[in-house]
Amino acid sequence: MSMDGQITSAPTATGDGCHGGRATMLDAARAAGKSEMLDGLAKDYPKGPHDQPQSMCPAFGSLRVGLRMRRTAMILSGSACCVYGLTFTSHFYGAKRTVGYVPFNSESLVRGQLYEDIRNAVHETAKPEDYDCVVVINLCVPTASGVPLDLLPKAIDGVRIIGIDVPGFGVPTHAEAKDVMAGAMLRYARNEAERGPVQRPRTQSELSTVSLIGELFPADPPGIAAMLAPMGLGVAPQLPAREWRDLYAALDCSVAAAVHPFYTASVREYVAAGRPVVGSGPVGVEGTAAWLENIGKAANVSAAQIDAAKARALGPLAGVLAGHRINSTITVSGYEGSELLVARLLVECGATVPYVGTACPRTPWSDADREWLEARGVHIQYRASLEQDMAAMKDVRPDLALGTTPLVQKAKEMGIPAIYFTNMVSARPLFGIPGIASMAGIIATQTKGADRFSKMVSFFDGVGSGDNTGYGWQGKPEAHPDYRVKNQKLRLAKAKAAANQSMGS
Ligand code: SF4
Repeated sequence: MSMDGQITSAPTATGDGCHGGRATMLDAARAAGKSEMLDGLAKDYPKGPHDQPQSMCPAFGSLRVGLRMRRTAMILSGSACCVYGLTFTSHFYGAKRTVGYVPFNSESLVRGQLYEDIRNAVHETAKPEDYDCVVVINLCVPTASGVPLDLLPKAIDGVRIIGIDVPGFGVPTHAEAKDVMAGAMLRYARNEAERGPVQRPRTQSELSTVSLIGELFPADPPGIAAMLAPMGLGVAPQLPAREWRDLYAALDCSVAAAVHPFYTASVREYVAAGRPVVGSGPVGVEGTAAWLENIGKAANVSAAQIDAAKARALGPLAGVLAGHRINSTITVSGYEGSELLVARLLVECGATVPYVGTACPRTPWSDADREWLEARGVHIQYRASLEQDMAAMKDVRPDLALGTTPLVQKAKEMGIPAIYFTNMVSARPLFGIPGIASMAGIIATQTKGADRFSKMVSFFDGVGSGDNTGYGWQGKPEAHPDYRVKNQKLRLAKAKAAANQSMGS
């Protein structure tokens, strides 16, 4: 799209994926002037060596972060089907908030009217009595078409305006899309703070603070605050923030703790603000000892204070750990970014964890966890695909598989007890004593029901599977392999004709 908002090329949807073919969309976006943005995303969220994992629409991560913030309006610009899915998912997760939508058709997209419509929507929405901030998210098609959100005004009547591109062909996971959003907000807030006085947070710690990066279970930050107290440290408002003014307090920390290690853009803002960044998190006894030590050193706390914090936390943790042993073999797969921390806690509790797959990339902030786990024989797969997670589960046949929805379905088909990482593990405490107790409780409950799964397999034995699934029929549906061969030949002929045509043109 040119500077005046006119589309110079519109993408044509062909091929694989819900965004209509990654390569096509990437080419279109580059041709439309989005190369710099795409290069930035590729640098922050590297794909290789395992390419894009299979999870929900990445933009959900950005949308969710915004919908959880007070006085923040979210507006989506994208295809109606994408917006339907995203709003459905956000309300499924209890957003109870309006999501703005600027629709388009081929004409408004190609003629540049979509950008005008977005600008009008932003002007209508940006009322200081209602909002601190209005965020517009370009989904796949407007990004590929070059809709220039960077041309929107930066503020209207004091309401901040932020435009971000979150295309499925550029941001690999919804986890990293949270960082796209949080990083953009933090950058804006940092620039404001550098220009002059900014609003105070509603509650401000009198202590030097540690800013926890990542969406944590609500009981975790107060638990962490109690661990930090002997070092004279408190916790800053968390990132992603719940309110705009909390962003200033988050930046004003003594140390940024990248508990979730994939917040690359956000970490960059902390570094720009001169804050040291520490990875990993206070899981189990060894994890907590190392984390307190690193945080204390980064905050220039005395060795005596660090020792006091460790002494207060580690004894009780060791006692609880001893009373909550896990004697199971467990595989861990997920796309939340906390998979390595979960695996660490499991191993400390006595579990055998042969495999951890995470959809997130390797970053410096998970190095300590990776090294600790690898030293204990755990295979870690960054950017894990569903196929890799499945293969590991089939190979190991664990007592319990923690995983994503399709993995859990497959495990159940095989009679392997399995639970959802997102709904079951991420929705519980992970750190300190509550983390140990909760993890041991989940594992004990789920592994106890192992024979239920084999009963389920035998109950459904003979109903057929795949194309021959018999549910809802009088008998098993008949297989028609000849149809498949016929359709395959038709597809090949069509592809060949298209290839010949493009060579001739
Ligand atoms: S915006 Fe999300 S749902 Fe829509 S095409 Fe892109 S990745 Fe798919």
